Formats: sequence, C-alpha cells, structure tokens
Amino acid sequence: MPIRVANRHGRAVLLVDGGIVDVDQASGGAFGPDPMLVLAHWDAFCNWAAGTSLQATEGLDEAELAACVPRPGSVFAIGLNYRAHAEEAGLAPPNRPMVFTKFPSCLAGPRSDIYLFSDRVDWEVELVVVIGRPGVRVAEDVALDYVAGYCVGQDISDRRLQFNDKPPQFSLGKSRETFGPIGPAIVSLDSFADPNDLQITCEVAGERMQDSRTTDMIFAVPELVSYLSGVCQLQPGDLIFTGTPRGVGAVREPRRYLQVGETIVSTIEGVGSLVNRCVIPPY
Ligand code: ZN
Repeated sequence: MPIRVANRHGRAVLLVDGGIVDVDQASGGAFGPDPMLVLAHWDAFCNWAAGTSLQATEGLDEAELAACVPRPGSVFAIGLNYRAHAEEAGLAPPNRPMVFTKFPSCLAGPRSDIYLFSDRVDWEVELVVVIGRPGVRVAEDVALDYVAGYCVGQDISDRRLQFNDKPPQFSLGKSRETFGPIGPAIVSLDSFADPNDLQITCEVAGERMQDSRTTDMIFAVPELVSYLSGVCQLQPGDLIFTGTPRGVGAVREPRRYLQVGETIVSTIEGVGSLVNRCVIPPY
C-alpha cells in the first residue's frame, strides 16, 4: 500500500484522503511522534499502516510541514549524475558516482524560505532517496528493498563558496542554512509504476528551468545505493540527493542566479512539489 509520511511541527503524520493522521496518536504510541523513529521501524510501520483503516483527523496545510527527514545520520549527494547535465557543464560523464555531502543542518521544509547568502545562489532540483533499512554491501538487484521512499529535494548551491577555491568546496557551498529543502513527504516506491522513470522539473519565477526524467541518470538509484553501501554503512533515515538534470543557472548563457523575491517550484511526478521563496538572510 502506498504510504506518504510527512513531518508536521516535529511529529510524523500520514497523508491520507482528505488530510492527515497523527502517527503517534493513531498507533497508540507504537510509532512516532518523532519522524526518525518511524524510519527506524519502517517495515513494522508499513505493516501497521497497511493493516489499519485511517481516517483524516485534520486537513493538510503544507505550510506547516518541516523536513520529512529532520535528522539523518548521513546526507550523500551525487554530482554530475544526469547525462545532459554533464554535457551542459562541459564535463565527461564520470566512471563512478561523484559523491559529496550536504551537512544535515542545511535541511529545510517544503515551504521554507531560502536565504540568499551571495549573488551566485543556484537551483538544482533532485530526487532524494530515503533509506529505510540498515545496509552494507547491498547488491543492485535488491537495492530498492533498502529504500523507504522518495522525496523531492533542492540542492541549493552557493557557486561563489563552491568554486572560489581549488579544489572546489562542494560540501560547504551546498550546506548553508536553508540550502536543503526536502519533502513534502516520504513517498513509498509502490506509489510508482516505475520508480526509475519519473518526470522532474524546476521553475524559477514562473519560468521552466529544468525538465527531465530520472531515466537520464548516469547511475540509477539501485546503483547508487549499492555503490554507497559498499563504502559506508547505510542507516534508516540516511538521504541520497541523486543529482540534478540539465538547466541549472551557472551554465546558462547568460548565467542566471536566484534573486530575492523569486519562488522556486520543484516537482517530481507522483511525489509532489517544494515551493520555496528566496529571501535576504536574517543575519
Ligand atoms: Zn546537486
């Protein structure tokens, strides 16, 4: 049964027809309220949700949602993982996944404001994988069994901080506060006819900047899970930002960066949208 779990004011909620259900209340304290605890017991949680008839107790207001995975142990991110994006960047497709991290403190909600800390802040819509089981040296053909679900992510990037030094500072340039909005919910893979073929788009100030399909990935989700689990122990709640398709601002002619007051709408077919407004940082 398809499952959609979000984080409302720090409490796990299930998205159902007509609204939301508080997981902790509905399960009599068996799961939640912390969304990280739901992920730690993902299989049991899915069994419970599938066997329970749940009625919405409140309406859904996406403005109330926080990051659907608030405190992951690891946040992996993949660079140059779409063929057309490697092409537009003028770089050869990598032979192995190019991995960096987004430090978890950058995570934000699906409606959070984005702080423009420099005049070269860029957008990167990405499919984000949420790990649902501990995994070490996972084989590709069973890799999706280790995935709790997908959410939408933005790998917001300060290109000044990223490229001012050699070698480039990917992890810092992409980890400023608010630079990792995710959500709106964790959506289980049985929601999709083909979880490896989803449309992915990004609009900035109403203009379609990115429009691709996840089939353009150089390393598909099962390859990424397998590769990363061969190096690092994967834990429930870990995130993988799987790379961005073509159409980022830094390689456009002329270059185009985010401006205060603009809204970024990031959408993945069957998952949902993030709507994030760009603002002057409060500090
Ligand atoms: Zn990225």
